[in-house]
Amino acid sequence: MTDPRPDTANIRIQAERSLHNEHSVPLFLTSSFVFDDAEHMRALFAEEMDGNIYSRFSNPNTTEFIDKMCALEGTEAGYATATGMAAIFASIMGLLKSGDHIVASRAVFGSTHALLTQYLPRWGITHTYADMADVSTFEAAIRENTRMILVETPSNPGLDVVSLAELGALAKRKGVLLNVDNCFATPYLQRPADFGADIITHSATKWIDGQGRVLGGVVLGRADLIREIFLFCRNTGPSMSPFNAWVLSKSLETLPVRMDRHCANALEVARFLEGHPNVEMVKYPGLPSHPAHSIAMQQMKAGGGLVAFTVQGGVEAGKRFMNALRMASISANIGDTRTIVTHPSSSTHSKLTEEARLAVGITPGLVRVSVGLEDVRDIIADLDQALRQS
Ligand SMILES: *Cc1c(COP(=O)(O)O)cnc(C)c1O
Repeated sequence: MTDPRPDTANIRIQAERSLHNEHSVPLFLTSSFVFDDAEHMRALFAEEMDGNIYSRFSNPNTTEFIDKMCALEGTEAGYATATGMAAIFASIMGLLKSGDHIVASRAVFGSTHALLTQYLPRWGITHTYADMADVSTFEAAIRENTRMILVETPSNPGLDVVSLAELGALAKRKGVLLNVDNCFATPYLQRPADFGADIITHSATKWIDGQGRVLGGVVLGRADLIREIFLFCRNTGPSMSPFNAWVLSKSLETLPVRMDRHCANALEVARFLEGHPNVEMVKYPGLPSHPAHSIAMQQMKAGGGLVAFTVQGGVEAGKRFMNALRMASISANIGDTRTIVTHPSSSTHSKLTEEARLAVGITPGLVRVSVGLEDVRDIIADLDQALRQS
C-alpha cells in the first residue's frame, strides 16, 4: 500500500492501545510514568530511547495529537501547548534571543500584537510591521539582525491574505525563518510548509476543536527548530493537558468534513451579504471581490469559515444589528458548530488605538461572522432579519 494521504493518516494515527485493545483511544490522565528499573530511567533521561517520563515533556494523548497535526501539515515534528498564545510565544522564545528582530504582518491577532509591542521589547526582541497587501514591504523591513518573518493568513479579523509562496521564497533568500499562524485556514485548507514555512502555529481552540470546548495550541515545523522549542517548553511548562489532547485528537478526525461544510456555508453567507442593501462592504477570501482572491485560491482549498462585513450606518447600526440577532451567538470565539458574531473594535481589538485598528482594516462598523454548521438557510434568515433592523 502507498503511504496514507493526510486525511487518512489523521484518522488512523492512534496512541498505543492498553491491555484492553480498545478501538477508541483512552485518556491517559497521568502526570508521570514509571520506569522498569534504574537503567531504564537513566536511558530515558539521557534520551537514548523514546518513552514517556512526565506529562510536561510528553504523554500518549499529546503525542497522538502532534502526530496527527504533523500528518496534516506535512511537518517533521511538533509540540502541543495549553493555548494558541502559548504556541506563538514558545515559537519566538525558543528560537530568538536579545538583539534579534522580527518582521511581522501588521494584521495579527490582538494578543500577538501585545506580545510584539509590550513584552518582547523587554527582552530586547524588536519588530517592524509590514503590509500584507505588498510583499515588498516585508523585504524592505528586513535588517541584518532579522531572524523571523511572522505572519497570519488569513488574518484575524480583517481576513487579509498574503502570498505564502512569495514569503517562503523571500525567507529562503534572506536566510530568515518563516513562522505562520495557520489558525484561520487550518491544515485542511492550507499547508504553509508546502510554501517553505519553517514554523507553523495553531490555536487548536478554534476550528481544530470545532465545538467550543477546550483551549489548545501547537507548534509544528522542522525537527531541529522544534527541538529548541520543545526544550524551552519542557523547562517553562506551557504543556497541553492530556485531556484536551484527547478531545482535540478526536476532533481532528472530522476536521475535513467540518471544514467543507463551514466553507460552503460561509461562501453562501458572503454572497448573500454582498447583495444586501444594508451592507456596505464584504470581505471573504472566497469571493472574487476580495483584493487577494487569486492568491487565496492558489494557497487555500476554499475561502474558510469566517466572513467580515460592515453594516451600513457605522457603529450604532452595527450595535443594532448585533442586538437584533435571534439565533447567532454574540461571543469572542470562532470555529464553533454554532454561528458566532463579534464586533472586533469594541471587543477583541479594543486595546488597540483607533489608528492601529484602522491600519489593519478594523473600521468601527466591522462585524466578524464565524459561520457555523447550522442549515445555511437559517443562518441567512437570522442575519437578514437583523440587518433589516440595523
Ligand atoms: C485565537 C487566536 C489565537 C490565540 O489562541 P488561544 O488558543 O486563544 O490562545 C492566535 N491566533 C489567532 C489567529 C487566533 O484566532
